[in-house]
Amino acid sequence: MRQATPAVELVGVSRVYPGGVHALREVCFTVHRGELVAIVGPSGSGKSTLLNLLGTLDVPTSGTVLVDGHDVGTLGDHQTAALRARSIGFVFQRFHLAPGISALDNVADGLLYTGMNRRERRNEAEAALERVGLADRMHHRPHQLSGGQMQRVAIARAVVGQPVLLLADEPTGALDSASGAAVIELLRELNAAGSTVVIITHDGQLAASLPRRIQVRDGQVVADERLEDQP
Ligand code: ADP
Repeated sequence: MRQATPAVELVGVSRVYPGGVHALREVCFTVHRGELVAIVGPSGSGKSTLLNLLGTLDVPTSGTVLVDGHDVGTLGDHQTAALRARSIGFVFQRFHLAPGISALDNVADGLLYTGMNRRERRNEAEAALERVGLADRMHHRPHQLSGGQMQRVAIARAVVGQPVLLLADEPTGALDSASGAAVIELLRELNAAGSTVVIITHDGQLAASLPRRIQVRDGQVVADERLEDQP
């Protein structure tokens, strides 16, 4: 059987910033559909640079980034934006919800690019909010929600368009430990239901709880382990 196109594939990826900072050197890895992966490393190791490349917000200085089989370095701005909108759901440390509009509208806005009409967008958003356990908070605005609930709304917005990849940047970084654990549990549940999830974190403990860990240090992958590799 032919294997499905990987969610993302990095082949010999380097990123050199102006001034000659080698933020990434010859990074190679593949994330297959259905995986749950931590990218973990200390501050300055290159995680944000990787996030930008995986999220098609930047292109490598050399090497290839394939998102859902598309070579990001060969696409124009419009094609890249369309690929990003269709293929990647972002979750940020500080939620990035629009203030003053309901949870439902925040999530529905994640479908603006799809051509769905407002009714369809709202129906999909309702279903996504139900999936993240917020059926009873749809009409609340962000300031009426706890941090953990805001992150659930952000996750609903990220998955509502059924992206190939859910990319979460320190998703528990602004939460207390109980809310953070609940957010990780939710990401696990979405993964078990088929979502491909990459979590970028400096938290070694969080990373250790996930089935695959890609460790970066000084711009290089220094380990790529799966849970079953452990003794
Ligand atoms: P992390 O997210 O793990 O903290 P970064 O990807 O932000 O790591 O940074 C990796 C390296 O690249 C660091 O040495 C950082 O100082 C450098 N760097 C990051 N962004 C830029 C930039 N825009 N210009 C120059 N150097 C940068």
